[in-house]
Amino acid sequence: MKVVKNAGQIFDIELEEDLLQRNRELALENRKLLDSHGVLAVDIMGSVGSGKTSLIEQMVSCLKARYRIAAIAGDLTTTIDAERIKGRGAEVVEVNTGKECHLDANLVRKAIEELELETIDLLFIENVGNLICPADFPLGSHRRIVVTSVTEGPYMVIKHPHIFAEADAVAINKVDLSQAMGVEPEKLQEDALSINPALRVVRTNCLTGEGVEDVIELLVNWFIGKR
Ligand code: MG
Ligand code: ZN
Repeated sequence: MKVVKNAGQIFDIELEEDLLQRNRELALENRKLLDSHGVLAVDIMGSVGSGKTSLIEQMVSCLKARYRIAAIAGDLTTTIDAERIKGRGAEVVEVNTGKECHLDANLVRKAIEELELETIDLLFIENVGNLICPADFPLGSHRRIVVTSVTEGPYMVIKHPHIFAEADAVAINKVDLSQAMGVEPEKLQEDALSINPALRVVRTNCLTGEGVEDVIELLVNWFIGKR
């Protein structure tokens, strides 16, 4: 019976490889579609409660006079995040994933099809709150930002190397609470850079907007670089 069991395991692994490969292909198609309309897309990843929606709210408020902005809000079941982002003046397509703990390129493709891409410059994609599998599922975005907050404790970065390896930037958020939490933003920054030396690291308080100007600077440079 051992042979059968092993065969089953191999089959499962192949199935998963197929799935990831198919996702990568779809992500490339998404990227081409976005490029053909001059849209810069940024995937915002991070744990539940890290501040992804708050960062997007801040970015929309700061940039809406300069760029035409839309967002895709991925969430399991609620519309809370989509409503918050809409409230700042961006067009939002909501994607409820049900039980799925990440967005994938196919879901993003469906959401993109609901947008008029020729009327958009910047697209923020808020991923489902999770630091694990979003790393394996590129969506076709041009850049990826991880939001991690000091309230998640001192080991959040070092325990999730894969997602930081895949990211372009990390926002260390809720820095106003670092003393109360006994978590040093410097340590989180060191950990992130030890995983990925090319990461751009910013420190933010996305409730007050402190540090958000550094994220804006990154976005503007990415946007210019894409032109
Ligand atoms: Mg959110
Ligand atoms: Zn997942």
